Amino acid sequence: TYDFTDRIQRVEPSATLAISNLAAEKEAEGADIVDLSVGEPDFDTPEPIVEAGKAALDAGHTGYTSSNGIPDLRDAIAKRLRSNGIDAESDEVIVTPGAKQALYETVQTLVDDGDEVVLLDPAWVSYEAMVKLAGGELTRIDLAPHDFQLEPALDELEAAVSADTELLVVNSPSNPTGAVFSEAALEGVRDLAVENDVSVIADEIYERITYGVEPTSLASLDGMADRTVTINGFSKAYSMTGWRLGYLHATEELVSQAGKLHSHSVSCATNFVQHAGVEALESVETEVTEMRDAFESRRDLLVDLLEEHGVDVAVPDGAFYMMIPVDADDQAWCEAAIEQAHVACVPGSAFNAAGYARISYAASESRLREAVERLAENDLL
Ligand code: PLP
Repeated sequence: TYDFTDRIQRVEPSATLAISNLAAEKEAEGADIVDLSVGEPDFDTPEPIVEAGKAALDAGHTGYTSSNGIPDLRDAIAKRLRSNGIDAESDEVIVTPGAKQALYETVQTLVDDGDEVVLLDPAWVSYEAMVKLAGGELTRIDLAPHDFQLEPALDELEAAVSADTELLVVNSPSNPTGAVFSEAALEGVRDLAVENDVSVIADEIYERITYGVEPTSLASLDGMADRTVTINGFSKAYSMTGWRLGYLHATEELVSQAGKLHSHSVSCATNFVQHAGVEALESVETEVTEMRDAFESRRDLLVDLLEEHGVDVAVPDGAFYMMIPVDADDQAWCEAAIEQAHVACVPGSAFNAAGYARISYAASESRLREAVERLAENDLL
């Protein structure tokens, strides 16, 4: 029999799995499920990107690339980061198969057994798993009482962060809340990070999807350039989830350390996909804006529909999620939502936010209307 490692047994399978299994079961029985549990845009990848991917295949870009990525893509990424105010060079970038891999490499590079990592709850599910796999210890700050904003929680963060803290993870715009942290909040993070010599992961994967607010890149703030690892990717902004393309940016020193894990694990991101990524960064703007606009209309619609049923939400300024408060055990509520209303959402507990359910509004307006109607009919709102 196998003797499994402590490290793998420290983590649970994704908490969203129970819901998607249940949804799949219902669908197999012929039920029409409105699936608002998914973390991906419901749009096709923009045509120019698909064409660039095909052209790259035809041109024979099918072998390994240099481990950290093709020069054209690293250049385009550095340029994009500079437009966000980050003083980036292409050799400070590692191109990864998805932002998730960039996060995994970063955590493995910075977190030792027993190191303290601070998360801002509700937090995306995989941060916790990655930290546990690395042997780190979690300290969690709850933003739920502050409408998911960081600025009002800075005192709590200050009380939690110390010279013993190794790493702080900041995700803005946030999955699962859609909150976009203010510049003042991020300056507060900067002050604490500098004072306590803490490294910071800035997961900015939803940075292109904001509504009327300008997101701030943490690494652009004074004092943050040499202690931030900026994470980003193509999945959300360009609707490229299945292409698996993302990146990290940090100092050359960090890149040379993380690059060891990168080269010994994935070797490189998929060659032709990297070429498609160059096209995305260099030539695709209109589609990004159109998708963003669609998400904004859906957000407005969903906020209005929920309000009509007496549900007040913290209106998200970014990403395509919102947390709705549920007057019940959120796991039970989500099960009832699937069983009775045939609507799939993710329990807040998956993000360490009991009492909420996460709704993804990466779905058409008619499906969103349908979902709210069904939830209301089943007394779930
Ligand atoms: N970070 C956050 C906050 C996410 O929500 C996701 C995807 O759901 C990722 C990172 C990873 O994205 P990908 O690996 O598809 O680039």
